[in-house]
Amino acid sequence: MKEIIFATNNLHKLEEINQIIADQYKVLSLKDIGFNEDIPETAPTIEGNALQKATYIYDRFQKDCFADDTGLEVEALDGAPGVYSARYAGPDCSYADNVNKLLEALQGISNRKARFKTVIACFLNGKTVSFEGIVNGQILLKPQGGGGFGYDPVFLPDGFDQSFAEMPAQLKNSISHRGIAVRKLVAFLKQSIS
Ligand code: IMP
Repeated sequence: MKEIIFATNNLHKLEEINQIIADQYKVLSLKDIGFNEDIPETAPTIEGNALQKATYIYDRFQKDCFADDTGLEVEALDGAPGVYSARYAGPDCSYADNVNKLLEALQGISNRKARFKTVIACFLNGKTVSFEGIVNGQILLKPQGGGGFGYDPVFLPDGFDQSFAEMPAQLKNSISHRGIAVRKLVAFLKQSIS
């Protein structure tokens, strides 16, 4: 079976992709390949970070690999927190700190439009290709729901009346930024071995 490295140690992400592609590809995490270094994520864009991470692994291993990067872009905040979504409230902040900072930044602002964007950069047979997934929505006035992670409790996807944190995981995955990008990657990988 073909192997591909996913430049992550996030088991949730690994499981998500394995569920879709396990019959055709063996997806290896960084831990699986014995790689323990921190991969730099210093690009100023989501696209740049995904490519930086994939390139870092490809340069070391010369093997098929991919990396993802995600951000929440809020229209009234000129796209912030964007590429800085993980550490919006500071270096060691929690998800709740980030959510609180976002709600404060949007206090009194009626334009609540936002989108999640995921970019996956993939090296296959030495060539790179990127896939994007976007989901549009609104930032709620206060957190709703106990599921998910990150900004899920304050993100209401367009066309739904539940926040990401109120939805069953399967429903979130079927409409989410990451779900869209992952399905594009999987279609590409499947087609490349057929
Ligand atoms: P990463 O690039 O997937 O690590 O995502 C960066 C940050 O974006 C995370 O630390 C979260 O704060 C946020 N984020 C990414 N994906 C999601 C999601 O599906 N829901 C809520 N927040 C997310």
